[in-house]
Amino acid sequence: MTTPYLTALSRIAIATVSILSVASCAPVADDVNAATKQKDAANVSAQPSAAAPKNIIMVIADGMGPAYVSAYRYFMDNPDTEAVETTVFDGILVGTVRTYPHQQSGVVTDSAASATAMSTGVKSYNGAVGMGVDKQPLETVLHRAHKLGLKTGLAVTSHIVHATPASYMVANEARGNYAQIADSFYDDRINGEHLADIMLGAGWGHFIREDRNLVELFQADGYQYIDSYDQLSSIDPSVPVLGLFGDGSLPWALDDIDPTRLHTLTKAIVPYLAADTQDSGYFLLLEASQVDWAGHGNDIASAMAEMHDLAKTMEYLVDYVEAHPDTLVILTADHSTGGLTIGAVSDYRWDASYIQNFKKSVPTIAANMLTETDKGQYVSDMFGFALNQQEIDSLDVINADMNPRAVQAILKDIINTRTNTGWTTSGHTAVDVDMFAFGPSAQVFAGNQNNTDIAEKIFTLLDQAHKK
Ligand SMILES: [Zn+2]
Repeated sequence: MTTPYLTALSRIAIATVSILSVASCAPVADDVNAATKQKDAANVSAQPSAAAPKNIIMVIADGMGPAYVSAYRYFMDNPDTEAVETTVFDGILVGTVRTYPHQQSGVVTDSAASATAMSTGVKSYNGAVGMGVDKQPLETVLHRAHKLGLKTGLAVTSHIVHATPASYMVANEARGNYAQIADSFYDDRINGEHLADIMLGAGWGHFIREDRNLVELFQADGYQYIDSYDQLSSIDPSVPVLGLFGDGSLPWALDDIDPTRLHTLTKAIVPYLAADTQDSGYFLLLEASQVDWAGHGNDIASAMAEMHDLAKTMEYLVDYVEAHPDTLVILTADHSTGGLTIGAVSDYRWDASYIQNFKKSVPTIAANMLTETDKGQYVSDMFGFALNQQEIDSLDVINADMNPRAVQAILKDIINTRTNTGWTTSGHTAVDVDMFAFGPSAQVFAGNQNNTDIAEKIFTLLDQAHKK
């Protein structure tokens, strides 16, 4: 046991000696300069400027408890190296968040109560959108941003009137009142203006209804409407935008023609909002909505695919903030979903190799396999590894009369056993979630905080930077 320890120690010793010898070769003045520069660089990344940011990008990964962030690191690990490589998330972690809702809903929150806490600073009951337990509409950080003259926008992978985006935009006593919430997206005004300059996500059914066509109404008010990803490259930055690319949601990352579609939406919406805002700045809400849905389904393959889309989005934002140091980015989760554990059934093992070559999502594979004659071969092809005989035999009971969820459960049993993934619930849990931030005033979000504190801090930063 002492050998590896000594080896590590001697490695450190060798590294120290080489740094010292390089330093001792350099002229003294240059040496001091280099040291000062290095120290400055360290200070910049560790202690961002105290100045309030001009632009704020709030990213919510729905359902992303801490285990998802760790699992993604193992999922992305290069097995050819001894070290487990870090991910974009590791470099931007600053703290944790307490997620519990108002006392009347206990301690396990839903997405609506948590988003309301983060958008308004008020703890509410599960299901509440933008209002407290007194059911009075509350001002959100998006509303404040609009009042202060900032551009506002949102991009999500669910439909845009789902709990999280809805709680930043409007107020409703129940998250399931989608038609009412969609109506409020159109009807609610601030200073006579629509709430958001750009809205991207899904939601055809909620916006194009028999009783009311909200797409046509937005168009009549000057919005450009787009309904396919390829139109994102040609949006006019001087005109407001409504972009709906699906009905109930965007497809799962594993099924979408664009497996990193949140990244794609982000690459379009950030330059759109940044255009022509020399003085005004912008507030943007992004949501990786389907991490939560993968958690509800206890579906580790989709969970990691959704995390990958989020990671690509965050990598883009890290680069963006490097080039635009007036922008603060905050990432957190509203709660954890599924009680994900990385390792199960008293076996010291978690093996992500079985979910790294998935061709489609489990729900899609489950639906498609019903018409396949060789189900075992089809599932092997879609999973990207060969099923063993016991797994092939477990597919025998599957037939077209079965409940789709029961078919999916059989497939997920195979994956959870192979990877040794544990789940404790198909619902949410009350564990604290991670807090990530970078850019000016990122340090404000360090340490353990309440989800309501996030709204209070954003209100303060918006006022500091923009109140005349
Ligand atoms: Zn959920």
